[in-house]
Amino acid sequence: MTLSLELTAREGLARAGVIRTARGEIRTPCFMPVGTRGAVRTLSSADLADLGVQIVLGNTYHLMLKPGAEVIGRLGGLHGFTDWSGHVLTDSGGYQVFSLEPGGNVALDDGGVTFRSTYDGGTHRLTPESAVEIQTLLGADIQMVLDVCAPLPSSREVLRSAVDRTAAWATRARATFLAQERPELSQFGIVQGGTDGPLRQESAERTLAIGFDGYALGGLSVGESRDAMLATLAATLPLLPEHQPRYLMGLGDPLGIVEAVALGIDLFDCVLPTRFARHGTILSGEGRYNLKRAENTSADRPLDDECACPVCARWSRAYLRHLLVVDEPTAPRLLTLHNVWWTLRLVEEVRAAVEGGSLEGVRSRITAAYG
Ligand SMILES: [Zn+2]
Repeated sequence: MTLSLELTAREGLARAGVIRTARGEIRTPCFMPVGTRGAVRTLSSADLADLGVQIVLGNTYHLMLKPGAEVIGRLGGLHGFTDWSGHVLTDSGGYQVFSLEPGGNVALDDGGVTFRSTYDGGTHRLTPESAVEIQTLLGADIQMVLDVCAPLPSSREVLRSAVDRTAAWATRARATFLAQERPELSQFGIVQGGTDGPLRQESAERTLAIGFDGYALGGLSVGESRDAMLATLAATLPLLPEHQPRYLMGLGDPLGIVEAVALGIDLFDCVLPTRFARHGTILSGEGRYNLKRAENTSADRPLDDECACPVCARWSRAYLRHLLVVDEPTAPRLLTLHNVWWTLRLVEEVRAAVEGGSLEGVRSRITAAYG
């Protein structure tokens, strides 16, 4: 079967729904934690199931280099390799190539991109075709086309070139994907164009003309202002099909989630909740704070008074802060469990608000805490 999206509620431009795939269902809006190298850092697939994670993002760039897509393919894809029965989405590897290998280590041409491995310095190449083949070996339920993500700010010429190349590559990626005849897998196209409205519009039209199972907005949440990002979303989302999933790549801060859903985004991913956790930055209903602050040294209260996560149910800020400052590996793990739980519950709350017509209430509360 091909992927489908049933919209079950709307409030303004915001939508709640259910994505159905051969693997099962994904309730939207939905946050995807990032499992860069085959695990959400410090967690296991059992933890993810306990947290209620529906779909995990895997990074093609890292997995193709270590342990290699063929190894993972032989061991049952990411599902078998990591023993995970939920959904998996993989990126194409392009974003990591451009962000991890700046300057002389990356050579871009019409055929693809050649880069030096961050692990061993070896030379590798990704093409629109090989990115599809690798993601199929990884067994991704949803795979992304190889795109060119221009940094922001970029000149219009750089953005134009990224849009052109992304469109040309998307055509090749779609042909390769369809030729595989794997109807249980899905493929999303990516709209580029920076914060340039007309370029975004053109990129959307060219991506739609090829035709994908869903559409992502790439090249946002890369350092531009929040207002510029939201204006770009507002200008681009109305061009995308109502009844297909819309994925905003790389966004996952609490206020960003609420604002993006309000404009009609269904899916998002971000390393922020997990990266924050490892550095002791805690997400809570009252905003984020640094657990290392002295005031938490003997604080006999949970990370968030309102949180029902397994960490907040048992351990005090004082204990968790102690583990963190003495570098116990348990600390990043427990703080990650809390931050991912908190983010997932926020998204569930946003979904319920869309269903109940009360998104504005959630938005004003999160704006007060995180604005
Ligand atoms: Zn908690």
